[in-house]
Amino acid sequence: MVDEQSLRNKIDVSEPSGMKLVEEIERLKTKKNALILAHNYQRAEVQDVADFVGDSLELARRAAEADADVIVFCGVDFMAETAAVLNPDKKVLIPDAGATCPMAQMLTASALRRVRAEHPGAAVVLYINTLAESKAEADCVCTSANAAAVVNAMDAETVIFGPDANLAYYVRRRSPKELVVVPERGLCPTHHQIAMEDVEAARRRHPGAKLVAHPECVPEVQDAADHIASTSGMVRFCREDAAAEYLIATEIGLLHRLRREAPQKRFHAVSETAVCPQMKMHTLPKILRALERERPTVTVPKETADAAREAIQRMLELE
Ligand code: SF4
Repeated sequence: MVDEQSLRNKIDVSEPSGMKLVEEIERLKTKKNALILAHNYQRAEVQDVADFVGDSLELARRAAEADADVIVFCGVDFMAETAAVLNPDKKVLIPDAGATCPMAQMLTASALRRVRAEHPGAAVVLYINTLAESKAEADCVCTSANAAAVVNAMDAETVIFGPDANLAYYVRRRSPKELVVVPERGLCPTHHQIAMEDVEAARRRHPGAKLVAHPECVPEVQDAADHIASTSGMVRFCREDAAAEYLIATEIGLLHRLRREAPQKRFHAVSETAVCPQMKMHTLPKILRALERERPTVTVPKETADAAREAIQRMLELE
């Protein structure tokens, strides 16, 4: 939950800029013992100022280990909520309170309770891309990096899984469990729009390049891929694999990290329009303003946080 005052305070900062801005962020970060965490889809300059850049699983781990007083979370709402749930005694800031994930909004706690009542005995595994109130209803959380392993670890033959139907397709191909997907057509708009036509066009432009896709992509793109992984899994694969050129089917922010970590290789976005507007809302001026004002803050009611924490901790312990 983001404080309303902060939502009303629309941020309009133009000074300082450039290096001065980065220096000011660094100064305040040290002064306030703050840690900046950024998702792989953040703007390049936000990734560069962060203490750690990673996927949802890595960010959840970093948040759990954080010994800072303040966490500045450059990601979307459910990620900042996860950091707040894991750090009830720390101040968690989100530079732009409007950064909300549409996929997370697709599954409500009440819808989940209804499906659970229809399937007594089923385990509930939720993608980390859910709000804390839904996580509070789950037996375990998963990320795209460990979804199949978490589902397979459940002590039930039927697993209620949500909200991403494309990730459910990926899991079904790697698990003997019966999956009940809720909602039936949950999706990430950014990944769902990457079509086979985009893959074919990219292959014509870059013949011989390997296709690496995120499991939030549609089934046809997954089936065409040489490798499917979470964002950090994609980085690891491209770093270690022998090929020199890759087509990347995910949000284009990952290209910055790929090019930084494997500068000798060539990377091409399958779709240049695969941009998550919510992830791109955080900017350096907004990070500075958040550090100065210590808001917008992200909080989760205690009862919800306690229940959600159990589901998140269970995932972390399965690793
Ligand atoms: S990329 Fe998709 S799943 Fe990730 S925050 Fe954006 S809309 Fe949500």
